[in-house]
Parts: sequence; C-alpha cells; structure tokens
Amino acid sequence: MALDSVPIPEPVSGEVRIRVESVGIDGGAEALIYDWHESKRHYADQLPQLFGHEFAGVIDATGPNVDGFDVGTRVAVEPILGCGHCRLCRSGSFGICPDRRIVGLHPDLDGAFAEYAVVPQETLYPIGSLSADEGVFLELLGLAVHGIERSQFTAGDSVAISGPGSVGIGALVAAVAGGASSVTVIGTADDREDRLPLARELGATQTVTNENAEAKLEAGVDVFIEASGHPDAVSLASSVTRRDGELVQIGIFHGSETVPVDLTRLVRRGVSITTVYGRRDSSWRRATAIAENTDLSPALGPSFPIAEYERAFDATRQREGIKIMLHP
Ligand SMILES: [Zn+2]
Repeated sequence: MALDSVPIPEPVSGEVRIRVESVGIDGGAEALIYDWHESKRHYADQLPQLFGHEFAGVIDATGPNVDGFDVGTRVAVEPILGCGHCRLCRSGSFGICPDRRIVGLHPDLDGAFAEYAVVPQETLYPIGSLSADEGVFLELLGLAVHGIERSQFTAGDSVAISGPGSVGIGALVAAVAGGASSVTVIGTADDREDRLPLARELGATQTVTNENAEAKLEAGVDVFIEASGHPDAVSLASSVTRRDGELVQIGIFHGSETVPVDLTRLVRRGVSITTVYGRRDSSWRRATAIAENTDLSPALGPSFPIAEYERAFDATRQREGIKIMLHP
C-alpha cells in the first residue's frame, strides 16, 4: 500500500460524500492485504484500489435525489451493499446477498483510507453524539449483535467467546448488554497481557487462555460464540458447549478451505450450529443503542494519522489494542 493524491470524489444521484473522521483496519481484510497474505492475492487483479471499509464521519456533500440526510450529519457506514432486489435483500439479509459488493473492497467502490469517501445513501446510519471511533466500532458490534439476533441466546444464559479481537469483543459487549449470566473470553497466551485484561474491563466475568479453557469451562456454556477463525476453537466449542446449547460461528477461517469438525459429537449432544455474516438493519439499531450506553473506550484505538499508516499496520501486526484506526 502507498499514500497518494487523488481528486476529491463527487457524489452522483443517491450518493453522499463523507468527510472521513475515522477508519478502522480490519485484521481479516486490510491487514491481510497489506501483508499480502495468500488468501488475499486475488486483489492483484483489481489494483490500484482505495481500501478501507469500517468508517464514520460527517456528510460533506449530497448528490441529487438524496432524502433524509443533510450536510453536517454524522454517520457510520454499512459497507456491504446488496443487489437490492433478490429474495435475501428484500427480506433484510443484504449481508449474504450473492451479488453483494463491499465498499473499499469491491473494485468499483472506493473505500475510506482517504479524507473523503462517496457512498450510496442506503449505507448510512446516523451516529448522533457517538464519537467517530465509536461509529467505526458499530460495524463490528453490529456483526456481533447480528450473531446474538440469529442465536437462541436469552438473558441469563452463560456465554463463552473465543477470539478477543474486535468482533469477539463486540460479542462480549453484546452479550453483556443482553443480560448474559457470565461471559468467558478465551484468548491465546499472546492475549494475556493486553486483550484479556481489556475484555475484563468491558465486562467479561472470566478470561482464560486456550490451554486451560477446556478445564475452566468443564461445566459447559449455553452459547459458544466462535470469533477467532481458528480451527482449534471449533473443537474446543464442541467440547464445552452444553448439551442442547448452541455454537455461533462468526470467525472466518482465512486460508483454510475446510475445517475439521466432530459433527457426530455435536449431533449426539444436540448442539445447534448457527453461522453469521454481515448485519441487518436491526443490528445497526441495536448496536447503536448499546454503544450509547456502554463505555467502549477500552476497545478503541490506538489511532494514527493516516500519513502514519505504516505504523498503524505494524501495530495491527503486533496485536496492539483491539480496533486500530486511522484518522485522515
Ligand atoms: Zn440481493
């Protein structure tokens, strides 16, 4: 990646221009592209590309035929654009539309590692008095909320979450807000000094490392939210999710075509499996309400001026903080 000057984009019909205040680095997207991970090399065909898909800012200009959004409104952006007319889009599940395009990752949709970004109005969610960094986090929190929405989770349930990255931490916040009786966050030995203490600050009742997770969760949890994308976490989930409980799979297994799962064990124990991708409109509404009532600051940052993007990607590689952001 390199920093370059490009013309300020102009919104056309139905689009708005956002002055980007904060944009996140996704460990599963831009960070892997920056490191040219083998699972991302197909992007070679579409370069140059302006990346950056988790962002928030202020509406700076509106194109013709924009209704309900005014210059000066502070917004976060849903980066997944469905086709708008298939069965999934019409039922609100635009996140899994087969023809979905993602702002900042699709070749025709420039992203927000920039001072300005132009997006269609249907992607916008006003953030009111939330900070831009909190607005960025809504994308992750919304995904976690969607996981909860899709699951049978109910207040009073015990929850375990593997992977204390931004999505796992989002799941922690969502589970706490939803009235979980206990939330155990599972990390690796590398997470012991930073991410696991941050998880406790955000309401985890217990944090464990993967080596002792099975022993610590021997009693079984009602809902296991897998947010690490590590195959070992799936086998842990099959052991510690209680009979008739539920495994909610959010993590993406980058570079792993297939993941071994002891399905027979899960079937015999009556464990349900639910997969989650993207968000719905309701996920944004709930995530925004949760963010307004939660101190998310332990999950936000460190942040860097965009000119120091190399430092920011280094910090991502060193697993600093939870959600690293660039401020254009
Ligand atoms: Zn569609």
